[in-house]
Amino acid sequence: MTILVVADFEEGSLKASTASAVAAASMAGAPVTLLVAGHGAEGAAPEASKLHGVERVLAVETPEHPSPETIAAQVLANCGGCSHIFFAMSFLNRAAMPRVAAKLGVSPLSEVSAVLGPRTFRRAIYAGGVITTVQCPEGAVVVATVRTTSFEPAAADGAAAVAPGAAAPAFEGSVFVSSDVKKSDRPELLTAKRVVAGGQGLEDAAGFQALDQLAAKLGAAVGATRVAVDAGLAPNEWQVGQTGKIVAPDLYMAFGISGALQHLAGMMGSKVIVAVNKDPEAPIFEVCDYGLAADAKESIAELLKAL
Ligand code: FAD
Repeated sequence: MTILVVADFEEGSLKASTASAVAAASMAGAPVTLLVAGHGAEGAAPEASKLHGVERVLAVETPEHPSPETIAAQVLANCGGCSHIFFAMSFLNRAAMPRVAAKLGVSPLSEVSAVLGPRTFRRAIYAGGVITTVQCPEGAVVVATVRTTSFEPAAADGAAAVAPGAAAPAFEGSVFVSSDVKKSDRPELLTAKRVVAGGQGLEDAAGFQALDQLAAKLGAAVGATRVAVDAGLAPNEWQVGQTGKIVAPDLYMAFGISGALQHLAGMMGSKVIVAVNKDPEAPIFEVCDYGLAADAKESIAELLKAL
């Protein structure tokens, strides 16, 4: 058995999701090779070599803005003889993973949340409403993404060797046009220790501005529901939930959020959940640790005054 973990990194720096994927891979009980493939891979490889449990790092440079197809091609060029391929969770890897599974003729396994044995895993379905235990058949390569928030990141106390990986040609069937990334002073949503999130109950742009001020006071990242994003009150990258980001901060504060299953799927792993909703019957009160039946904007104003 050998395991290939596909790293997630940006601007030469590893994302926390990589250390979580390595931790999950180590639980499957086989030597771990970490593939760092993408633009700036050589810069990120030394950091990758320190992750506990990694025996070897393969670095493959690609042109800027690689497509999921390009990443899938690098994985396929480097996975010969592997029994498992675990992808660190990112939007790019999430799209590359099923392409690799299809090429290898196996079922893709998304968002593994527990490793129970070399071929036995737990994963959520129906937006987290049901947890399944799945067994991969002997002989088939396990191809999976790893839910970042379910695994304590591997420590950075290793010293693996770094070598160049096999490079496959970049996919040319699609062309990168542009990207629109909002720069923010706030911590990154995926790894923030505190998240303040708003829903439709924040009502308008002023409500989200107040939420942003609260985030600044608390050193928190800002999250939002899909309804708030669709209404143009919050940018896409703030969306938390089944089709957004999955977060597990120490503190998650939900303002004017009803608690739909698809939203809960993205924040149920939070250690302490605080909810403010004017409807005492709102489903969010069934999952929160502290609940306040009150107006969301007024509560934020009170908090800002008190802080
Ligand atoms: P609502 O459900 O409309 O709730 C607003 C809440 O605000 C209510 O509980 C109301 O009592 C309260 N409120 C109103 N006014 C005030 C006030 N003045 N003060 C305090 N409280 C007030 N949703 C996500 O969030 N993330 C996802 O990733 C996601 N993915 C989805 C995927 C699919 C396939 C589908 C079908 C849906 C998905 N959704 C997702 C949408 C989800 O089902 C809900 O519609 C959404 O989460 C509701 O957002 P909300 O809580 O802001 O709005």
